[in-house]
Amino acid sequence: ARAEALSSCMEPAVTTDGHHMEIVANIGSNADAIESIKLGGEGVGLLRSEFLYLDRVSEPDEETQTQIYSEIAETLGKDKPLIIRTLDVGGDKPLAYMPLPEEENPFLGERGIRVGLNRPSMLRRQVRAVLRANEKGKVRIMFPMIATLPELLAAKGVVIEEAEKLEITGVEIGIMIEVPAAAVMAEIFAEHVDFFSIGTNDLTQYTLAMDRGHPVLAPMVDALNPAVLRLIDMTVKGANAHGKWVGVCGGVAGDPIAVPILVGLGVAELSVSVPVLPEVKANVRKLNYEQCKQFAVKALAQPDATAVRNLSMD
Ligand code: PEP
Ligand code: MG
Repeated sequence: ARAEALSSCMEPAVTTDGHHMEIVANIGSNADAIESIKLGGEGVGLLRSEFLYLDRVSEPDEETQTQIYSEIAETLGKDKPLIIRTLDVGGDKPLAYMPLPEEENPFLGERGIRVGLNRPSMLRRQVRAVLRANEKGKVRIMFPMIATLPELLAAKGVVIEEAEKLEITGVEIGIMIEVPAAAVMAEIFAEHVDFFSIGTNDLTQYTLAMDRGHPVLAPMVDALNPAVLRLIDMTVKGANAHGKWVGVCGGVAGDPIAVPILVGLGVAELSVSVPVLPEVKANVRKLNYEQCKQFAVKALAQPDATAVRNLSMD
């Protein structure tokens, strides 16, 4: 099956009835970007920019960041979009040069965009570097862990101001949907962004109130829980009401059982780890979009994750 998927990996992921899915990669380096192209990736749905910030004694300066983002943008070129997510660290992932408060509940504390909004000059340096990389490719900027509209508007305001100063146009702005509040409010938020990307790893942990890394609970933290699927459904409907598209960049996007459901829910883009790109594309090519839509309706009506996993397409 691997050989078959590899041999067709440069073909687009089109269902038997002609529905195209964008299959892109989650990456953490330029080497990943190079590899993703070889495996048929149509762009990058998530560049986790943390790699640049971790394991250092000081913040990477704006020049360094510009250079590294530009290198990746150049690898992908003008045709393959590169979604760069701004720094997503939290109370549980401290940086030596950026003291974060001691928190009792770091996952519910200062993490994701909250870190950036509380350190505006650091956020602005990163935003400028991301914007400047657009010259070499097709860059989109994305903010992690948005929970409220004021957070979204503040982050977007930074991009608009810096883009104006740098006289850079055409960089699309998106947010991650990782907090149930954002999924529920998708229809309102959609008016203010170009796209959404659903981070099902965090969305699942926050929906079920179960730590995604918890040694005992982790097996139950399943993104195919119908509660999560209903939030994905709400997100897509909210986005589509404003003509915006939705991707999924959490681990479930690469799960063969999940792919037909996500396709059927109207997700437009699946961002998956580099090695599974060929399999996900091959998987989509075997599907029928109309059938996926019906399958998704069935999945939404299931009582729990196990029932969803036991469903069969026919
Ligand atoms: C997610 O939460 O699903 C996600 C893609 O972000 P990360 O795994 O980096 O938290
Ligand atoms: Mg996340």
